Amino acid sequence: MDKDIATPKRTKEILNQYGFSFKKSLGQNFLIDPNILIKIVRAANLSEKSGVIEIGPGIGALTEQLAKVAERVLAYEIDQRLIPILAETLSPYPHVKIMHQDVLKTDVKNEIDEFFEEGQDLAVVANLPYYVTTPILMKLLEDKVPVRVIVVMLQKEVAERIAAKPGSKAYGSLSIAAQYYAEAETIFTVPKTVFVPQPNVDSAILRLTKRSSPPVDVKNESFFFEIVQASFVQRRKTLLNNLAKFFEESFLKSQVADMLSKMDIDPKRRAESLSINEFAQICNRFYGDKR
Ligand code: SAM
Repeated sequence: MDKDIATPKRTKEILNQYGFSFKKSLGQNFLIDPNILIKIVRAANLSEKSGVIEIGPGIGALTEQLAKVAERVLAYEIDQRLIPILAETLSPYPHVKIMHQDVLKTDVKNEIDEFFEEGQDLAVVANLPYYVTTPILMKLLEDKVPVRVIVVMLQKEVAERIAAKPGSKAYGSLSIAAQYYAEAETIFTVPKTVFVPQPNVDSAILRLTKRSSPPVDVKNESFFFEIVQASFVQRRKTLLNNLAKFFEESFLKSQVADMLSKMDIDPKRRAESLSINEFAQICNRFYGDKR
């Protein structure tokens, strides 16, 4: 472990050797605690046959731990300055491929097809750049990138929102969007002291285990997500107020109230109390009726 990239000493040596300066705008907070990295890797339940996709390898601290366990690793790094550093730090691991790419702009599914075996067990494991956590996760989920599990480090507050259950303050459209595609759990929280430079926010490890099929049947996925968004537009308002606004071109408020009551959903409830099932019911009842 002494020689691991992630030890504070080795990280410092690498950064000094290359005169590397952190870019805050790219969310560069590197991990300097090999034990945390090992815990992240364990959370993905990888085997020696697994393939791993990493987003933002930095100087390779997590990549190295992944490479020790998995059969192949494909890592996307946006910062050109890190590419020659990674070539050196990861030279003992020829089964790692670094792509100099913005993960949000690249065709991940196509690259998976090219790099991994058909049907190979796949996982995304990453310490995400915090300025783009949600777009990256939603891209992986909405594009149905064929991975078994996604294990990521992200802001604690965002991890809590993603894994939140109905009735909690953190529950919102992001929880439902993520939980439509995956089972979400916060595995452990991480102190700021394990990063250089230290971020301003607390961090957590989130595990998203992909579902083989959605937990609810909806007539139209994009309409379902529109309903969910609309219901949370003003969190403190009732479901009826938010939905009446959304349907104002199609229905009177009293009609919306009536339709909700007939579904056994009290129109005075707030969106944060509704289960994913109840949102699906609303979607299926109203689908096709919006002008
Ligand atoms: N994995 C390293 C670690 O744990 O020490 C670094 C993690 S650091 C939080 C995030 C990394 O993501 C940085 O190396 C940054 O340059 C890279 N990055 C930022 N935006 C990116 C994007 N859109 N696509 C790919 N990589 C990105």
